[in-house]
Amino acid sequence: MHASQSSLKKGETLIDTAMTLNAMRADGIVIRHASSGAVQLISDKVDCPVLNAGDGTHEHPTQALLDALTIQRRKGEIAGLTITICGDVLHSRVARSNIICLTTLGAQVRVVSPPALMPAGIEEFGVTTFTDFNTALDGSDVVMMLRLQNERMQGDFIPSPREYFHLYGLDERRLALAKPDALIMHPGPMNRGVEIASNVADMAGRSAITEQVEMGVAVRMACLDILTRKARAVEGWA
Ligand code: ASP
Repeated sequence: MHASQSSLKKGETLIDTAMTLNAMRADGIVIRHASSGAVQLISDKVDCPVLNAGDGTHEHPTQALLDALTIQRRKGEIAGLTITICGDVLHSRVARSNIICLTTLGAQVRVVSPPALMPAGIEEFGVTTFTDFNTALDGSDVVMMLRLQNERMQGDFIPSPREYFHLYGLDERRLALAKPDALIMHPGPMNRGVEIASNVADMAGRSAITEQVEMGVAVRMACLDILTRKARAVEGWA
């Protein structure tokens, strides 16, 4: 179903939605919502497990899990890696969830963005901040690019896509500043030529972008399995 498109200002509508969902007696609910915090609000009101499939600019936990799995498969271990996340950090739920996940797993996380797209106080999450992409790339084991979240921007945050690519786009020349075997990642959907050059996105052996999608299926299956185990045991079909 389409949850309310409204903001949290219409909290009452969201609570009504939660009550309706609860009355359906689902074994689990997956929610993607445009408002940050909406998933928490609903999960507080329903009896079954709730999986956050992305809430506004807040969090996207399964994306972080699938990214961590992809990195682990490619690099063997996450602890000790230098992982650079570049792009629209301010509006990115992917960045936030990955920062929490990857620092917890022992990676050194660097975040790069134009000053206007860097959230204030982000250092408190244990990351190092950069406005110069070239400097941040030096010694990086993984380079994770983010899409400009235009749908969440009010006003102009960048001069032009062309200028943005010039300073913050990942092209072959810039990629050479990272470690020679640095992994290229992007949560998708990609804007080729804006945050990432096409030949970098498709670089054989280096780009993990399609593997991220593949791992997304596995991770989400695992989450649904774990979250519905109790319900299945009660119903006798576990
Ligand atoms: N697919 C991701 C998300 O839902 C990333 C993006 O849209 O840029 O946040």
